[in-house]
Amino acid sequence: MKTRSMVMALLLILTAVPRAQAPRPDADPRIEKIVASISEARLRELLTKLVSFGTRNTLSDQTSPTTGIGAARNWILEEMRRSSEKLRVNFDTHTILPQGRITREVDVRNVMAILPGRSPRRIYVSGHYDSVNIGGQNISNSAAPGAAAGPDRRADVNVEANGANDDGSGTVLTMELARAFAESGIQFDATLVFITWAGEEQGLVGSSAHAEDLKKANVPIEAVFNNDIVGNSIGGNGIRDAESIKVYAVGPEDSPARSLARYIRKSAAVYVPSHKVRLMAREDRVGRGSDQSSFSQNGFPAIVFREANENFERQHGANDRIDGVDFGYLAQNARVNAAGVASLALAPPAPKVTNDRGGNLLSRDPSGYDATMRWAASPGAVAYRIYWRDTWNNDWEHSQTIGNVTQFTMKNVNIDDFVFGVSALGAEGQESLVSAYVSPVRQGTTIKRP
Ligand SMILES: [Zn+2]
Repeated sequence: MKTRSMVMALLLILTAVPRAQAPRPDADPRIEKIVASISEARLRELLTKLVSFGTRNTLSDQTSPTTGIGAARNWILEEMRRSSEKLRVNFDTHTILPQGRITREVDVRNVMAILPGRSPRRIYVSGHYDSVNIGGQNISNSAAPGAAAGPDRRADVNVEANGANDDGSGTVLTMELARAFAESGIQFDATLVFITWAGEEQGLVGSSAHAEDLKKANVPIEAVFNNDIVGNSIGGNGIRDAESIKVYAVGPEDSPARSLARYIRKSAAVYVPSHKVRLMAREDRVGRGSDQSSFSQNGFPAIVFREANENFERQHGANDRIDGVDFGYLAQNARVNAAGVASLALAPPAPKVTNDRGGNLLSRDPSGYDATMRWAASPGAVAYRIYWRDTWNNDWEHSQTIGNVTQFTMKNVNIDDFVFGVSALGAEGQESLVSAYVSPVRQGTTIKRP
């Protein structure tokens, strides 16, 4: 009788747990709140205003208060300042001499909002606010290797160029994330930079100048979430896809960009499970480019988000209008960004797995037939997680959480047979990017011959 009543009591307790409200695995309520705060209505309001400037061509009117790129950038700056007093908002100005598609000397002004974190390591969210109308899509944003981009002979810099989707969508996504993160009340470990670029359509000019300066100043950039053309859900072929987003990440397999791409897919699966992240193992779409490449070229981890199914007929022309933007879809893409940025910004930095000469810290110690990983402790880490996979696979297959140590040995595991990696875990369970143990490609030997 006594046992029976205890069983009954236990059953009552078990059934009383509200299952529907149980958190998903690894979900952090702070991140859920940020993701939920992304407003589709505000994205629409922002884009409606942004396209009202007529054109945002980098070479268009700089002084009119109502039309052209000057008016547009002033509004972006003021709007980001209005959206939260925690943001430090300024122009990031670069004087560019005539070159390629820049036909006269011009001030290219990126609009930058910084949300200071506990540490100087930076995470970027970006889109380009400049637009172009060359009468259709036929343009590649980055010149072929070794060749300078020529001027757009068909382009009249003051004709209508709404750029609602390219890249008004990425611009308002960036602005909305700036507001959501700054107003979340959360103190992030990483410093967050929300930036909208100019000069993208003239050969990534604004982002190149910015990334070069960062490299010279040795600023620690952990990740760049670039967004370019992320708001249209119906392809030019009539096929609709409002349930997925592509992430392009430059290789090789274990580049920091690929590590970031895997991380974004993982965090989206937790916080935006209805939206699918499709990873693309290439720098960008074939023959096309965007500002993430300015960062990759300077050695920083950077990816670009692209809508699932594009309409090429509505790019780089007067018809890239706001009626081609699906705000429900754009909001989902903004939430995927938010989940990744928040997870990363709350986590410790990724462990450093190389020595000062760049060699990786993976060895066969102690027996000569074991796998031993070593790494430098990450500030704020309370534990680490090691990863491994078959060398021919692209995604991590196995992982194991270990304690607060800086080395780990797997007995009788041959280091030739697997790729290894390690991440850092913070006190509240947030995980860093995975640092992989990568062997650089061997340099050729110069053979001395008579
Ligand atoms: Zn673009």
